[in-house]
Amino acid sequence: MAVQQNKVSKSRRNNRRSHDSLTAANPNECTNCGELKRPHHVCASCGHYADKEIVAQVDEIDLEDDAA
Ligand SMILES: [Zn+2]
Repeated sequence: MAVQQNKVSKSRRNNRRSHDSLTAANPNECTNCGELKRPHHVCASCGHYADKEIVAQVDEIDLEDDAA
């Protein structure tokens, strides 16, 4: 196992971690359904992008009929 040669001080450790924070997402409202969505991405809830349906949405999948 590698063993560090010198103790990393709290100041040096915290300075290294000063760039580790995550930035918050910047969601937009979907123009079709009003749900919050990532900008420049297809809406996850209705599958629309720029007022066009890109991903067809299935209303309801009945799992119990197929499983039997
Ligand atoms: Zn949508």
